[in-house]
Amino acid sequence: MSSPVAVPKEALLNPEPLPEIAGDAESLDVWGFRDSGFTINENGHVVMRGHRYELSGVELPRLLPWIRETLGIELDPKDVNPGSYPTYIGPPLENAEFQNELKTFLKNNQITSEGPIRLRHGHGQTQEEMFAIKYGTLPRIPDLVIFPESDEQVAQLISTAKRHRVSLIPFGGGTNVTDALRCDANEKRLIVSVDMHRMNRILWIDKANQMACIEAGAVGRNIMTQLQAYGFTMGHEPDSVEFSSLGGWIATNASGMKKNKYGNIEDLVLDITVATAAGKLERTTCVPRESTGSDLRRLLFGSEGNLGIITSAVVKIFPLPEVQAYGSVLFPNLTEGFGFMRELGRETYPPSSVRLVDNLQFHFGLALKPASTGLGVLKSRAEKFVVTKLKGFDLNQVVVHGMKAGSENGRRGYQLTYSIAYIRDFLMKYYIIAESFETSAAWSDVLPLIENVKKRLEAEYRARKLPAKPFVTARVTQVYQTGAAIYFYLGFYFKGVPNPSQVYCELENIARGEILRSRGSLSHHHGVGKIRQAFLPSIMSPAALEWKRELKKSVDPDNIFGAGNQ
Ligand SMILES: Cc1cc2nc3c(=O)[nH]c(=O)nc-3n(C[C@H](O)[C@H](O)[C@H](O)COP(=O)(O)OP(=O)(O)OC[C@H]3O[C@@H](n4cnc5c(N)ncnc54)[C@H](O)[C@@H]3O)c2cc1C
Repeated sequence: MSSPVAVPKEALLNPEPLPEIAGDAESLDVWGFRDSGFTINENGHVVMRGHRYELSGVELPRLLPWIRETLGIELDPKDVNPGSYPTYIGPPLENAEFQNELKTFLKNNQITSEGPIRLRHGHGQTQEEMFAIKYGTLPRIPDLVIFPESDEQVAQLISTAKRHRVSLIPFGGGTNVTDALRCDANEKRLIVSVDMHRMNRILWIDKANQMACIEAGAVGRNIMTQLQAYGFTMGHEPDSVEFSSLGGWIATNASGMKKNKYGNIEDLVLDITVATAAGKLERTTCVPRESTGSDLRRLLFGSEGNLGIITSAVVKIFPLPEVQAYGSVLFPNLTEGFGFMRELGRETYPPSSVRLVDNLQFHFGLALKPASTGLGVLKSRAEKFVVTKLKGFDLNQVVVHGMKAGSENGRRGYQLTYSIAYIRDFLMKYYIIAESFETSAAWSDVLPLIENVKKRLEAEYRARKLPAKPFVTARVTQVYQTGAAIYFYLGFYFKGVPNPSQVYCELENIARGEILRSRGSLSHHHGVGKIRQAFLPSIMSPAALEWKRELKKSVDPDNIFGAGNQ
């Protein structure tokens, strides 16, 4: 897209395409970069492989003891649950006429039916998908994966798919946690995953008006690096920013940890270009705000691949911050910490990112600390004395806040975000299933909601006579004037439990029902996909649901975009 504002061409910056970075390969069977991940070393301690993160190479001697104590289990490092990835990859369907026609406008290296690549495009990152690819199967995966390189190729692909009755599923980074990429087991048509990774360029940067036009397949870490070279940031940093894409952020209506300063994705995107089965949707101007009737661009936020393929977007950009400062505060209990967060939500300029963790997560953070030696031991003993004796805090109630706990703890919390994402798949190897789910609620509902969900899950866990104790914990991750976003984590030891992944899903659904009863949202930013589809009728009236269906029919009457989300 050329610039929609009157900036002389020479005033626009046109970054070079990104070179492939050797060593940046992603794992197929677990989260993250192939060179990183947790493992247990010869000393019997958890350590993170690789060199990318602050935690990399650091022995974490407190982690296994903490897990054993928290879950009430005897975790034996030698007792591994051997996965057999890839368990099974069925043969692809074929549609010779469609596939021949593809060759008239795509190069050979833009089309593949290789098994492992098809498999990776048939799932996101939910625990049930990550469990299924190692310990079960996915009933249906894409038959073909296509890597378009231009808007024209995307348009041609859609019209070819239309003529040959083929189903298309856009693929960004494959990081969604809603089963949004899971294929319909009953789909009889050829399923094509449209991988947007090669459409990853920053097309232009308009410094004067602080906008950039970025192709939808660009992933967050590359957008950050490239804008940074010009002194800018987009400010959108979901915890998955290393791998998730601009198109995926729009399609899932994502939220980044720095939304207090920069806004959520819908605040950051000024314009979107989309290829649909009914043609291209694009605008000719890009203005800060306008009143031109219903804004159709808004319908793309949260469209989850159902309406078309987002090919690029114009986004706001911001000068890089002059300083980045961190802080942490320790509170005597969750209620005090909650009051502080509510105040922050009402500040004109709250910190860009704030998180309130409950006591269990506070202790989890401590368990991820390396062993203290020498002066470090004295320092942590002295800190503990000040906190527990002088300030009178009970460490079994403490959540981070109330008493200043230093910038180092704050910085550490921020840094841990990316490495913690690797823990779920590490634990799965040791018979522990764990996953997060999120919601949002008005301030007056937040604490009761957290309490209700925790109680409900613990009671259900006991009633089902599942092993030892579950890990149920919550944190407040985003603040607004009127309320907050809340993350829950649920984990348990599953050795001896039949269908553990299914049991986890049942528990999460029970928690979701409790969230809705406690006036929380179906999702703050992960979306609906297929995982929360069944709850839609309980949050939307029949008229609203019908409107959604009609909207889909109006741009895609033949259901070319057949992912079946929502
Ligand atoms: C460890 C971890 C941390 C996470 N943290 C956050 C967080 O902090 N905030 C947050 O909001 N989410 C978070 N998520 C969820 C996920 O990263 C987001 O939903 C993200 O926006 C998905 O982007 P993606 O590019 O990976 O999309 P994908 O997973 O590839 O696709 C998601 C959906 O969008 C559609 N889609 C993708 N690209 C396009 C396109 N170009 N055009 C049309 N449709 C498209 C797909 O068809 C699918 O329906 C996290 C997930 C993980 C695993």
